Amino acid sequence: MSLKELGEFGLIERIDGLFKAPLGVMGIGDDCSVMPQSSGLDTLVSTDMLIEGSHFLLSDVKPKDLGWKSAAVNFSDVAGMGGSLQGSWLSLGLPKDLEAEWMLSFMEGYKEISDLFHCPLLGGDTTTSLGPLCINVGVMGVCEHGKAKLRSDARVGDLVCVTGMLGDAAAGLHVILSGMERGSQEDYLVSRHYRPMPQIQKGLCLAKSDGVHAMMDISDGVASDLRHILKASGVGASIDTSRIPMSEALRDLALKSGKDPLRWSLSGGEDYELLFTADPAALKDLEVEHYVIGEILEGSDVKWSGSDNDYLGFRHF
Ligand code: ADP
Ligand code: MG
Repeated sequence: MSLKELGEFGLIERIDGLFKAPLGVMGIGDDCSVMPQSSGLDTLVSTDMLIEGSHFLLSDVKPKDLGWKSAAVNFSDVAGMGGSLQGSWLSLGLPKDLEAEWMLSFMEGYKEISDLFHCPLLGGDTTTSLGPLCINVGVMGVCEHGKAKLRSDARVGDLVCVTGMLGDAAAGLHVILSGMERGSQEDYLVSRHYRPMPQIQKGLCLAKSDGVHAMMDISDGVASDLRHILKASGVGASIDTSRIPMSEALRDLALKSGKDPLRWSLSGGEDYELLFTADPAALKDLEVEHYVIGEILEGSDVKWSGSDNDYLGFRHF
C-alpha cells in the first residue's frame, strides 16, 4: 500500500496502535499530549514540522515571518488545549547554501513571537539537510490538572463555535501562489498566512468555562478539524455554512478572482483560530469572541446546510 492510500490519519492510527500511553497520560490523538505532574498541574507537549516546498516557498517567505510562523503553529496547539505556554525547542535541518543572514533573520521572528507570549526557547538541534530546509518545533505548556479541553468531549446538544474569521490564510496563499498584484487587502491576507496569531488568551478564557466541552485549534480547515472532534467524541453535527465568519478582504478577493470564499474558509486551513463545542447556556457568559456555526447531533456525520457538501480538509498525502 502506498502512503497516499493509507493517508496521513491512517498512518497516525497505525502508529498509535503500536503504543499504549501510561495510566493517566493522554498520548496520541489531541493537539497536545497531557501528562499529570506531582505539582498538581498537567504538562502539555506538542511538536510540528514545517518543510520547504510543502509548507512554505523560500522564494516568497520572509525569513522573519517564517520564524514567527514556525513558533506560532506550535503555540496554537497549546491554545487548542486551553493551556499557557512554558517553553519551546527548535530543531533545524539546514541546506548548505543557506545564508547566515537568512537564518539570523528567521531567529528574529522566532524571538519576537516567543517574547510576545513569554515562551522562551529552551533547546533544540542543528544539522545539515541535503534536501529542503526542515524546521521542527516542540512546545511545552501547562494547565490545571484535568482541565485541558479535549477533542473527545463534544456532547449532543452542544453548539459548535469558532473564535474568529476563517479562510484568510488560504486566501493569502492564493495571493502568493497566483503571483497576483497586491493591494492593501492582498497584503493583509498574505500576512494572515505568514503571521498567524496563536489564540492563547482565547484558549485560556474558554478553558475557565465548564460549559465549554471539546476544543481544538483549526490548522487543517474547519471541515477537516471538526471531523476529529466528531470522531473522538462519537457524535455528529450540523453546520450552517452561511454562519461561517469571513473577512471582507477574503470576500472581496473571492469576488475579484472568481473563487468560492467558502472553499477557503472551510477547507483552506492555517487560520489557527479555535474550534469548540459548548452547552448553549454557557455561551452568553463567555468573554471571548465567538461565532456559532452549528450544533452537535447524535450520529457520526456532518450535515451541511447553506451550500453544497463537497468540503474536505487539507490532506498531507
Ligand atoms: P495537529 O494538527 O494538532 O498538529 P495532527 O493532525 O498533526 O495534529 O496530529 C494528530 C495527532 O497525531 C496528534 O496527537 C499528534 O501528536 C499525533 N501524531 C502525528 N504524527 C505522529 C507521529 N509521527 N508519531 C506519533 N504521533 C503522531
Ligand atoms: Mg492542532
